[in-house]
Amino acid sequence: MSPSSPLRMDAPLRLKGEVVRGFGRGSKDLGIPTANFPESTVEGIPEDLCAGVYFGWARLGGNDTVYPMVMSIGWNPFYHNTKKTAETHILHQFDEDFYGQELSVLCVGFIRAECDFESLQALIEAIENDISVARSALALPLFAADKMDDFLACQ
Ligand code: ADP
Ligand code: MG
Repeated sequence: MSPSSPLRMDAPLRLKGEVVRGFGRGSKDLGIPTANFPESTVEGIPEDLCAGVYFGWARLGGNDTVYPMVMSIGWNPFYHNTKKTAETHILHQFDEDFYGQELSVLCVGFIRAECDFESLQALIEAIENDISVARSALALPLFAADKMDDFLACQ
């Protein structure tokens, strides 16, 4: 897959909500867990926002660490979902699940539009590419500064 160059969003997207259970596919099928937002948070996403893969920064509960993250917003065509989801993969190895904790995310960049894949392997490769694009982009001054955004400050 050719490397994509990430775009800065015109306006960052700020989302907050309790981490809920999804279909359990992130970890089981893909080896890439995604923390799912509840419907009430997904409903707050502008309807005209392009379904696809975004990246930015995330913070959990009362923890003041801000982590890099990559996020999928849309209908996951590979899985034929009928409901829109917003799923965050935090670029950090956690020892335990964190269902029930409040997750705050600041999306600042766009990687690619949502698309279907011919195989699970192709989907996994695309996600791995997204992760590496996000990691490199978030190290650039253009995106790194957003880590200090007030929205992610521990209250
Ligand atoms: P679900 O379908 O319930 O979302 P997943 O297989 O996608 O299940 O796993 C997501 C859960 O894994 C998250 O809700 C969180 O509790 C846990 N988790 C552990 N490490 C991570 C991580 N690095 N990023 C996101 N979620 C993680
Ligand atoms: Mg998930």
